[in-house]
Amino acid sequence: RKVADRLTREHRPTFSVEFFPPRDAADEQILWRSIRELEPLDPAYMSITYGAGGSSREGTIRNIARVASDTTLVPMAHLTAVGHSVSELRTVIGHFASVGVRNILALRGDPPGDPLGPWSPHPEGLNYAEELVRLVRELGDFCVGVAAFPYGHPRSAELDTDTAHLVRKLRAGADFAIAQLFFEADDFLRLRDRISAAGCDSLLIPGIMPLTTMRTLRKTIELSGANPPQWLLDRLEPLSDDPKAFRAEGLDIVTELCERLLAEGVPELHFYTFNRAKATRELVSRLGLRPPALLPAVEPLARA
Ligand code: FAD
Repeated sequence: RKVADRLTREHRPTFSVEFFPPRDAADEQILWRSIRELEPLDPAYMSITYGAGGSSREGTIRNIARVASDTTLVPMAHLTAVGHSVSELRTVIGHFASVGVRNILALRGDPPGDPLGPWSPHPEGLNYAEELVRLVRELGDFCVGVAAFPYGHPRSAELDTDTAHLVRKLRAGADFAIAQLFFEADDFLRLRDRISAAGCDSLLIPGIMPLTTMRTLRKTIELSGANPPQWLLDRLEPLSDDPKAFRAEGLDIVTELCERLLAEGVPELHFYTFNRAKATRELVSRLGLRPPALLPAVEPLARA
């Protein structure tokens, strides 16, 4: 159950879903309800992010193991190098393998507290995601993904060096990259072009946030590390006091973005679910990404 196999087998555009580890028992119930609601739509894979430490990291490990054992989904665990020694990383990677998780999104992670604060590696740890890609590869037969940044990583002074680092990371043994949130299809397509101009043909998957609330808009701005275009603010900000209208407009905007990406040959869309199924289900249905077995039956032809 590898992501790369699944993606090469698909002959139609597909999607994947991302969750975060639950904070408590009530959150865990919500997470599992959402997983069960998305499972029948047959996403190419599902992933759970890796938190800053302690119980959140255990939440990733426990829930991704349950996805592997109790569902039909292809599970991918995010793993960050920050705060871990190499020996701890080996233990976590070994545990993923032992519970049947063969897909890892290899990340460096951010310093706890301030993501843009000074970076210092664990004294017996790793400095860059590229080293984690090598470590995961060394330890077994894994499919490995990495992170990419359409506007450049916030720590990178120049787009070109950032792209060069991304290409090194992919060549270190990654099968694909997932792009951080962005606002316009061209922002993503320009990154795809930069990678390909560097002679790298790895798959780049766009990260998509369903813009259902002001909170999701703020989160998109924060994570993208860029300023939103004026047209986007003009469409959404006037609706900030009308949740229903905001949601409808936000989902229209995301549908338009996804349609353009699909028209440009993007084969896979990665949705941030915020641990809820509804908005992703709606987008998947609007974009026609449901598996053929679930498409509405075609009306039988009337007899002549
Ligand atoms: P790196 O690839 O190591 O890059 C970090 C910086 O170093 C960049 O500026 C890069 O250009 C530079 N660099 C890279 N290689 C070299 C090199 N060889 N020499 C010099 N400079 C170099 N965070 C979490 O905590 N948990 C998650 O689950 C999580 N999931 C994510 C999923 C996606 C799809 C994305 C896009 C991000 C995710 N993040 C997550 C955030 C991520 O951990 C941070 O953005 C982090 O700051 C960068 O991680 P990276 O793996 O890209 O690091």
